[in-house]
Amino acid sequence: MKSLKNLATLCLFGLFLWNCSTEQKDEKQQAVVNPPHKELNINNPIIKDKFTADPAALVFNDTVFLYAGHDEAPNDFNFYRMNEWLVYSSTDLVNWTEHPVPLKTTDFEWAKGDAWAAQVIERNGKFYWYVTVEHGSVQGKAIGVAVSDSPVGPFKDALGKAIITNDMTTEHTQITWDDIDPTVYIDDDGQAYLYWGNTACYWAKLKDNMIELDGEIHTVELPNFTEAPWIHKRGDWYYLSYAYQFPEKTAYAMSKSITGPWEYKGILNELAGNSNTNHQAIIEFQDQWYFIYHTGGIQPNGGSFRRSVCIDELHYNPDGTMKRVIMTSEGIQ
Ligand code: CA
Repeated sequence: MKSLKNLATLCLFGLFLWNCSTEQKDEKQQAVVNPPHKELNINNPIIKDKFTADPAALVFNDTVFLYAGHDEAPNDFNFYRMNEWLVYSSTDLVNWTEHPVPLKTTDFEWAKGDAWAAQVIERNGKFYWYVTVEHGSVQGKAIGVAVSDSPVGPFKDALGKAIITNDMTTEHTQITWDDIDPTVYIDDDGQAYLYWGNTACYWAKLKDNMIELDGEIHTVELPNFTEAPWIHKRGDWYYLSYAYQFPEKTAYAMSKSITGPWEYKGILNELAGNSNTNHQAIIEFQDQWYFIYHTGGIQPNGGSFRRSVCIDELHYNPDGTMKRVIMTSEGIQ
């Protein structure tokens, strides 16, 4: 009888221990499911109500102006459908104001579509927008230039014809889209330069009027250059970043002169989530450098033809090389 009583006590004690351990386990599981955390602001992509691609940015009067192509491809259409460019402005890189559509491919009478990558630069109070379009009569892609008195437009064709047509460069005659992705830079001495290209990277000087080439077209040799050159300068160093291989990473080269020689420095940004292209703009704003790019990250329909612009910080090493970009969901807080 006594041993039965002992057995019952033992069973009760066992049940108590089992119950305790189950409660502890439940608490642990609870902790895994609901970790204590601070609510994050998910700021990337920065534009969520439209698909935006191929960002370029301009800092003017303490404001950042973002220029992007508008990805208009329907969900069942797997190629680029782009007919216009968009412009947004921000004074904190978090809150963005959309302005009326500043420029369309139909604003260039000689073009027949494809609002591909572009960049705006200011000179003497005028804003020049170099754009990629499909040419209406010269086979292939071409570069046009539009002008406005305001960074948000409206812009109009500044030249009445293309500044670059496919037949002006013959480095890669097997493709008709080697003359795309213009980037423009005005050097400290006032000389303006236009870089552009796909498969080959081209550059030429621009006259002071910004709408005519000044001299011949040159070619730069860069490892695995695909497209999307962007020129910027920090201190004594010029940087030529570009889309590398395909699907695209962003790589870069450095030089002490805007005309080179350029020394390859490696990968700057990895494959950008869910997009086979990668297209960067690099700016300094309020003493911080930023890397602006696109991903296919808006779900459920984002992807290579429905892209979205994102921004993250860019940092440099003491020797002037750039640290690899860390793409974040939080973006700029
Ligand atoms: Ca060509």
